[in-house]
Amino acid sequence: ARKYVLAKHFEGAPKESDLKIVEEELPPLKDGEFLAEAVYLSVDPYMRAYAYKLPLGETMVGTQIAKITESKNKNFPAGKYVVGKFDWRTHTISTGDTGTNQGPASHPPYIVPDFGELPLSYALGVLGMPGTTAYFGFLEICQPKPGETVIITAAAGAVGSIVGQIAKIKGCRVIGVTGSNEKGQYLMDNFGFDGYVNYKCDDIEQQLEKVAPEGIDCYFDNVAGEISSKIIKYMKMFGRISVCGSISSYNTNVNTPPKVSCVQLHMLRKQLRMQGFQNYLFYNRSFEGINQNLQWVKEGKLKYTETVTQGFENMTKAFIEMLEGKNIGKAIVKV
Ligand code: NDP
Repeated sequence: ARKYVLAKHFEGAPKESDLKIVEEELPPLKDGEFLAEAVYLSVDPYMRAYAYKLPLGETMVGTQIAKITESKNKNFPAGKYVVGKFDWRTHTISTGDTGTNQGPASHPPYIVPDFGELPLSYALGVLGMPGTTAYFGFLEICQPKPGETVIITAAAGAVGSIVGQIAKIKGCRVIGVTGSNEKGQYLMDNFGFDGYVNYKCDDIEQQLEKVAPEGIDCYFDNVAGEISSKIIKYMKMFGRISVCGSISSYNTNVNTPPKVSCVQLHMLRKQLRMQGFQNYLFYNRSFEGINQNLQWVKEGKLKYTETVTQGFENMTKAFIEMLEGKNIGKAIVKV
């Protein structure tokens, strides 16, 4: 068995040398345990934000889809696939009660439900955590109404691309903010977005005025920082902001966050509502989100893209590339 451990704490953008692969011997199974072999592993932005809490030498945190190869636990029989927070490992022994104990709160391991013809890997994306984050984080916090204008940052990523399509399903006008014109065009051509803003250009305000001349009702914020301050300026009266992530600050030192413009005056004048959320708040309703997304995928209303990196030995590369924005849709690794 192999796993990734933290060799050096990240400073700025993660480097290949910050993580290293080590071998581990696994003991024989005890009663109540099962052995699972990783098939797909997820690389997510929170791993960058969370890693400063991990002691050096600790296994890198993460969720995976694994095949149960041996079992002494009747709820997790051999041959089934399980989603678990088993970290960056090729093989895991679990009791099924919780994931490994490092990392942010996570769903206990569960057998991958029957998705019919759909790929197994969707359980790490649209039919898993990013899908439920998009579903609950958008619908519960933004409370969108038909005809409203919705803007999403990191719009071409796992969560953002799903939020945009849910907003379309709900009858909204949807603008995606992303780091390249190619990605923006992709959103319009493939996911039905109505427009995009390229945040890497210096004319962001002009772009916003053009794509949302009447202002923005709902903002799903994956990014924070200066682009968020600019977007908030364009919100309409009583607009709602769902704070899902802050990826623009993940590579900075936690104690010295980036300086951004003051948004309070806009919040005050327009009487905006801004609310943060964590997907674990909705764990008891996870399958409500997964089942709804599954239905939309089957009906062709929710399209889904993955960026797949081959090989466990390329996990760090996949992680770095996702943070650099090389992915469209969910970034995963196939063992
Ligand atoms: P994505 O698939 O969206 O990948 C990250 C994307 O972020 C990149 O593709 C890149 O796209 C963009 N990005 C990277 N750096 C910056 C930057 N400095 N400024 C603006 N954009 C940047 O990841 P996820 O969909 O998994 O996650 C998106 C966000 O949602 C993250 O902030 C994450 O932490 C958060 N999240 C929160 C959850 C919650 O419970 N609250 C649960 C899951 C995710 P581009 O080319 O456009 O720059």
